[in-house]
Order: sequence, then structure tokens, then C-alpha cells
Amino acid sequence: MPYWWAGVDAPPSSATALPGETDVCIVGAGLTGLSCAWELARHGRSVVVVDSDEIGRGASGRNGGMVHPGGKHDLATMLTMPRGREMWDDTVAAFEGTEALVDELGVDCDWRRSGHLELAGHPRHVAHLRSVADAYASIGEEARFIAAGDLRAEIGSDRFTGGLLVTRSGSVQPAKLVGAVAGAALSAGAELHGQTEARAVERDGGGYRIETSRGAIRAGEVVVATDGTTRRRPVPWLGRRILGIGSFIIATEPIEDGLARSVSPAGRMFFDTKNFLNYWRLSPDGRRVLFGGRTSFAPTTVEQARDRLYAAMLRSHPQLAGVRVERAWGGLVGLTFDRLPHLGRHPQTGVVYAAGYCGTGVALSTHFGRAIGRWMCGEGELPAFAGRPWPIVPPPAHVPWLLPVAGWWYQARDALGI
Ligand SMILES: Cc1cc2nc3c(=O)[nH]c(=O)nc-3n(C[C@H](O)[C@H](O)[C@H](O)COP(=O)(O)OP(=O)(O)OC[C@H]3O[C@@H](n4cnc5c(N)ncnc54)[C@H](O)[C@@H]3O)c2cc1C
Repeated sequence: MPYWWAGVDAPPSSATALPGETDVCIVGAGLTGLSCAWELARHGRSVVVVDSDEIGRGASGRNGGMVHPGGKHDLATMLTMPRGREMWDDTVAAFEGTEALVDELGVDCDWRRSGHLELAGHPRHVAHLRSVADAYASIGEEARFIAAGDLRAEIGSDRFTGGLLVTRSGSVQPAKLVGAVAGAALSAGAELHGQTEARAVERDGGGYRIETSRGAIRAGEVVVATDGTTRRRPVPWLGRRILGIGSFIIATEPIEDGLARSVSPAGRMFFDTKNFLNYWRLSPDGRRVLFGGRTSFAPTTVEQARDRLYAAMLRSHPQLAGVRVERAWGGLVGLTFDRLPHLGRHPQTGVVYAAGYCGTGVALSTHFGRAIGRWMCGEGELPAFAGRPWPIVPPPAHVPWLLPVAGWWYQARDALGI
């Protein structure tokens, strides 16, 4: 069980039977689906959210809780893309909007403006981090390259050859955040039904018929918000564009204050520059280290991931030797082939979607969910990420034994720093 769920109420759900009809049916009760439901319900639409699991128990309730502008591509790369500056500004709006939402909901989600440090995982990555620092300077955003010799004030580790400190970023307790958004959606009138798998979505007159494991629903509109858990059904064209990849996190036992501060003196969030990156932070009470990542594309059990993450944690922070791991868990990250999230309305089926956050979706999923909700009510425009061509994931990536081969390729690149 994720560390985040201990002692925290599970997100609320509806105790009623599944209705036969609704204005909008949303498949997936994570931050995307729930924030979309909240907006739609506030605008007077009847909304039914279905999830094959319990509400909020996907990536949204089990992630690292690191919240920052940007996405899988860094700022320097994003600025070279068509509408790159607008996309970046959307990610800033996503971050600011998530912070404002936490404030608006008035629920304690352990939100903190912590700042984050991106750490050079290989000496060759230093030049790139410097260029990203220049890109931040070019748009007037606060960020600073820190040379290896000066890193000690920010991180208790000698492993990294430089880092980029970005101050506009924060941290949150993800289970509390998704619970708060579920509560807001429910209070606004949305229905939230867990243990209800959507198995097929078909056109039915001017609307849709959604076959679920608990009966059929007729809906005027359908939103699919399944990110890393997207499969070939119920919407095959979406399943061909997203690859669900496991990511894992360990949480240590409580440690002494001094030891915790030796890891993160300023309480920053950390991640490195590798393809198989690690991300880590202190728990909101500052007493545990949470360390996440993935080491291969091969099928991995939570136990294997726990041992590999523990070894990786000690390579960066040998001072933690002997500290026990108390919890380990995993979740699915939704990768896209262009490493960008996508949202909009599918031209052929009319299904609305937002997904593919590539592991950086806490702020973006909340923002995109709200944006599509408002847009479906005729309010505002979609973020600049909308309407881009969305490449399919090459079919070999869906072949179980071929995926680890791609993993070895990335591991070799990580070792060489390319
Ligand atoms: C371990 C881990 C760590 C992460 N750390 C961070 C981080 O620190 N910072 C960050 O920004 N991002 C992070 N992410 C990514 C982030 O959590 C996600 O991008 C975001 O939560 C996606 O939200 P979502 O609502 O789109 O999808 P999810 O929260 O995954 O919800 C999708 C839901 O769809 C449901 N579903 C799927 N198929 C069906 C179906 N057929 N019928 C009904 N329901 C269905 C699933 O059960 C699931 O509940 C992390 C992800 C993981 C897994």
C-alpha cells in the first residue's frame, strides 16, 4: 500500500446505483477525470465518473507528489517546438492553478513551495543543464545552475556533477489532493462509481452507449481520462498511442531529523537527468525519504523494484545505510511517443480525451481536466498542447519481450551520458 494512503480517508464515492443516463460519462477517476467532473457539475451538467478501481487509486493517488511547471521535455527543448512557448506557459498555468485549487478547496494537502533540483546524472549532462538555465533566464523565470562544489547546501550527496535549481515548484500529498478533488466533484453533483470498468464505448444516436461491468449508461458525451492505465479497450485508437510503464517508490522508516536534513537541507524535491531517472524527496513531516524510479522496461515486481531503488538511494545517499524501507509500491505512467501529453476531441469518434503525461502529470492532469470540462461547456480555449498530431506507439513496443530491449538501449545511453 502506498505510504500516502496510511491514515488518510479513501476518496469519497457515490453510494447510489449506476444511473442509466447522463449528460457526460467520464472513464477514469484520477485527477484528470475528477477535475473535469468537478467543472462540468459546477456548470450544471449531469456527470457520471466510472473507474475500474476505487476512486483516485491510480497514479493520481500514488505518485511522488512533486509538482512543477514543464513536462517530460525540458524548457530549452520545448522552446524549439511549434507553439513551445505557449505550451510552457500552459504548464506554468497548470502549476499556479493547482496551487490556487488547493487554496480554494481549503483542504490540507501538505502543499508546500519547496523548489526542485534537477541533478546531472552524468558529467556530460552538465552542459545541457547550463543551457536549460539559460533558457529559463531568456524567459525571465527564476532558475540557477549550481556547480558540483556548491551543491552541498542543497543536497547531501557527492554523486552529482551539477544541478539546476528551480524555485517555482512545490510538493503535495497526492492522496489528500485527489481525495479533495473527488470531494469537490461529489459536492458539486457528480456521481463517482468505483469498481465499474468501462468495456465498450459505442455511438448511439446523437450520443454514446457505454458498456460497463455494472450495466450500460447512455451519455451525450464521453471523456476518457485513463493515462497510464489506458488499454486497447474501450477506445482502441487511444490504446495505440499510450504505453503504460511501471514506476515505483519506496518510503523509509522514520529517521532522525539531522539525518533527514543531511539528505535535503532545504526540503527540495530532486530528480536526475537520466532516461531511467530517479526522483526523491522527504515526506511532508520531514521524517522519511521517499525514493522513486524505474530501472528497466522488463516486467518488475514491487519487491525487485524495492531492492533496486534501495541500492540506488544508497548510491546517492550512503548516509542512509541501515535505514529500513517500510513501504514500497508502484503505479503506471502514461508514455507517449513524442513525450508530450495530448488532449482534445477525437475527430472520428467525438470522444474527448486528456492523457499521456509521461510521469509529470500532477499539475497538468488537474489543469487539463478542468480545461476540457470548461471547454465542453463553451468556456475558454483548450491548452496549446491540444490538436497536435499524436503519433502511435510503434507496435513492437507493445510486444512484451521487445520492450526490455528498448530498455537496454536507454540504459546504455544513461551509462554513456547521451
Ligand atoms: C509511481 C508514480 C510516481 C509519479 N510521480 C509524479 C510526480 O512526482 N509528479 C508528477 O507530476 N507526476 C507524477 N506521476 C504522474 C502522475 O501521477 C500522473 O500523470 C497523473 O496522476 C495522471 O492522472 P490521470 O487522472 O490522468 O490518471 P490516473 O490517476 O492514472 O487515473 C486513471 C484511472 O483510469 C482508470 N481506468 C483505466 N481504464 C479504465 C476502464 N476501462 N474503465 C474504468 N476505469 C478505467 C484507472 O483505474 C485509473 O484509476 C507519477 C506516476 C506514478 C505512477
